[in-house]
Amino acid sequence: MSFASASRRPSLALRLALWYSGIFAVSCALAFAVVHALIVATVQHRRDGDLVDDIGEFASMSAAEGAARVEQQVRLDAAGKEAAIGYFRLWGRDGRLALATDLEAFPGLPPPPDAAFAKRVADRPTLATLDLPGKEHGVRVVYGAMSADAILEIGESLEDDEEFVAALLRALVAPLIAIVLLGLPVGWFLSRRALRGVEDVTRIAAGIAAGALDQRIAALDLRVPSQGDGDEIARLAQVFNAMLDRIQGLVVGLREMADHLAHDLRSPLTRIRTAAEMAQSGGRADGSELALAATATEECDRLLELIDTNLEITETESGAARLRLEDVDVAELVRDACDLFQTVAEDRRIVLSGELPAECTLRADRQRLQRVIANLVDNALKYTPPGGRVTITLREDAGRVRLAFEDTGVGMPPAETTRIFERFYRSDRSRSAPGNGLGLALCLAHVRAHGGQITVESDPGRGSTFVVSLPR
Ligand code: ADP
Repeated sequence: MSFASASRRPSLALRLALWYSGIFAVSCALAFAVVHALIVATVQHRRDGDLVDDIGEFASMSAAEGAARVEQQVRLDAAGKEAAIGYFRLWGRDGRLALATDLEAFPGLPPPPDAAFAKRVADRPTLATLDLPGKEHGVRVVYGAMSADAILEIGESLEDDEEFVAALLRALVAPLIAIVLLGLPVGWFLSRRALRGVEDVTRIAAGIAAGALDQRIAALDLRVPSQGDGDEIARLAQVFNAMLDRIQGLVVGLREMADHLAHDLRSPLTRIRTAAEMAQSGGRADGSELALAATATEECDRLLELIDTNLEITETESGAARLRLEDVDVAELVRDACDLFQTVAEDRRIVLSGELPAECTLRADRQRLQRVIANLVDNALKYTPPGGRVTITLREDAGRVRLAFEDTGVGMPPAETTRIFERFYRSDRSRSAPGNGLGLALCLAHVRAHGGQITVESDPGRGSTFVVSLPR
């Protein structure tokens, strides 16, 4: 079962990051537009203020000192600044041009103000922006009444203003683009951070769904790490942990009850077995009674083995049973197992072989390792039809010993491979084969006690490979 692939949509973290950076980019663009408009308005406001002030000064001069003084000052001002920057024109009320400075840089200026316009200018200075043909930059013009019969026109190129605004915006654009580009990784980081708690819950829940709850439940880190307190995700983690504690309590209780039951059954079963044995050896039973006593002994043995294996798993999982470590030659153990099972393999017309190095020494508990190997070879032979092959390969790599048990047997579907290590799990197909469903659970417990792991790959109808990996 795959939880991660349940949906083809991009992850929530990615979607949040995209939304975040998208909204961030739009906000930046809006802020940029507002700043641009403000700068343009401020620059124009200042320029207009200066032009109106100039007109005011010339008008005061005209009132106090007469039109000739205005003309003199216009000439003086025009001589003091570059001809491309601005110009002056002085008009009579009749539309006659009384004075014009150098107009070469301002081709195509409009004709003299008409009577209506002149009347408006008489009330207050009037501003306009001219787009002259062939000129890249506009011209800001102010018209102001000097006296009853004269209008002064002052024009100034907007080149400086426009270049100032453009330079300012250019300086703003680079950092703005950088900020927008940063938005995506920052958004990704923030959303990952915010969702980390949810990922922790998903990881733990997926672990439980994959069977983690069934394996050494108390020793596994089956808790969502603390998320602090207060927010929604922290509360989710707390509730989830409380639920895990409850499940854990129930499972541990159930297991303890099963262990106690097994323990308590051991003594009466042993007594029944002894009684059946005595009936067999007492010499007073006839043929059918002997057969019944033999069956009773056999069944008792089966039940006692089941109880003992179950208790051995519990002891190994809980760490109560200590490993008796010694230098063990794993290659030799596998060779012994091959010899032991050769007759069974031949009876079933299965080729049992090993690909082994001459020697492979490991510090391990010999007896437990022997049981693991025997169980896995036994299973491989049990679930492989006549004519098949079982191959055991032993390799050492990267500080680990790797034992692979490959068979050409019945195999199993993927859903089963996660369950076969549970106690008492037997697939429906295997019910006709002898066994109690504890073999693999015992193997797993022993291998884990050695710090190793078991994995399985299987193809229904084609075979399975169990791999035991042990640290050296
Ligand atoms: P048992 O063999 O006594 O049933 P195990 O714990 O050894 O119990 O195995 C559990 C189940 O795993 C088996 O019932 C079988 O369905 C499956 N299994 C184990 N080994 C193999 C294998 N080599 N090929 C196919 N199925 C297997």
